[in-house]
Amino acid sequence: MSSNRSAPSPKVYGWCPGALRPMMSGDGLVVRIRAPLGRLSQEQATAIADLSRQYGNGLIDLSARANLQLRGVSPETHGSVIAGLQELGLLDQDVWRESRRNILLTPFWQEGDVSQRIARHLEKALLATEDLQLPGKFGFVVDTGAKPLLQNSAADIRFERSGTDILLVADGAQVGCPVTVETAAEAALDLARWFLDQGGAPTGRGRMQALTARCAPPAGHRAPRSVTAPQPDPGPTVCGQLVALEFGQISATAFAGLARIAPLRLTPWRMILIEGARDLASLPGVILDAADPRLRVRACTGAPGCLQALSATRDLARDLAPHVPEGQILHVSGCAKGCAHPGPTPLTLTATSSGTFDLIHHGRASDQPVKETQSANALRAAPQILTKGR
Ligand code: SF4
Repeated sequence: MSSNRSAPSPKVYGWCPGALRPMMSGDGLVVRIRAPLGRLSQEQATAIADLSRQYGNGLIDLSARANLQLRGVSPETHGSVIAGLQELGLLDQDVWRESRRNILLTPFWQEGDVSQRIARHLEKALLATEDLQLPGKFGFVVDTGAKPLLQNSAADIRFERSGTDILLVADGAQVGCPVTVETAAEAALDLARWFLDQGGAPTGRGRMQALTARCAPPAGHRAPRSVTAPQPDPGPTVCGQLVALEFGQISATAFAGLARIAPLRLTPWRMILIEGARDLASLPGVILDAADPRLRVRACTGAPGCLQALSATRDLARDLAPHVPEGQILHVSGCAKGCAHPGPTPLTLTATSSGTFDLIHHGRASDQPVKETQSANALRAAPQILTKGR
């Protein structure tokens, strides 16, 4: 499907917010925290909740790259947030280091295992290589648990398990190159250099997937990849209990509640892993039941929290959730950028103006709609519109 929409094109920034370089949104600055290895001690998580309540609007997002975002921070209080993060050991020395440390690690790593060691070596190597001018969004995934789990998470360079091998993979390619824990980091840097040498980022922007769509991966990349395992549901895992966040957002109060239980690991699935926890019966502000219909909807911040949003999104997504057939996903997007789910979904509603949406089947937020524009009220009154004619 190709884009043929009349709504204005959303702005593409080409960089991600950080703590030192926050991004202005409709509800203030978004301050992104990139926790080392995606893990927060109980003390760190509790203090982040305090920073959110004191200097933000009390809402915390969990991003699709397993980063936390404090929302509603003002330019005047940003300095206090930075000081707080510094005290917690969660602040990089400068913006360059902050953006370079773009590594997503499987949340199911164990102390001293292959995944943790590769992530550590890679971070060290990336920070020691100052001459590599990678695009702002260029990212890495370390997905070397028993089976790949993160193939649907955006990245340019991946490490993943295939049988007994660890493969280095250029995103978009169907094959990879076997590496060891010792050679992994340097091999990833070589692949990043190959990306630049092949013209992957001619104007400073570009993604590996676009490059591998037009040219074969480097020599030596011949081993077939494994198929991804399904994303886990909320519930018990070998490392603790997964709890889901409605639309990937949690109140600071609920976050502090999780921090009281155990250290937290951040996942790219809008879920938090509570280390070592088992059989948590109920917890305020999170979803524990894998059958909860809210897990079948994705919705971005929308209006008024996002400056580019053409409409509010989350109330409509919440109202439509019980009408989304089991096993399907509805994505409600405030504009064609589709931040909440960049890939295709069975059902997508993309705002065209306040309270009106295009309906797209099996596509992305920017794709061609299948029906004339629908109002949010019409969709609420007759949710069968969503699936009619498919
Ligand atoms: S998709 Fe949503 S969050 Fe992203 S820019 Fe558009 S309105 Fe904003």
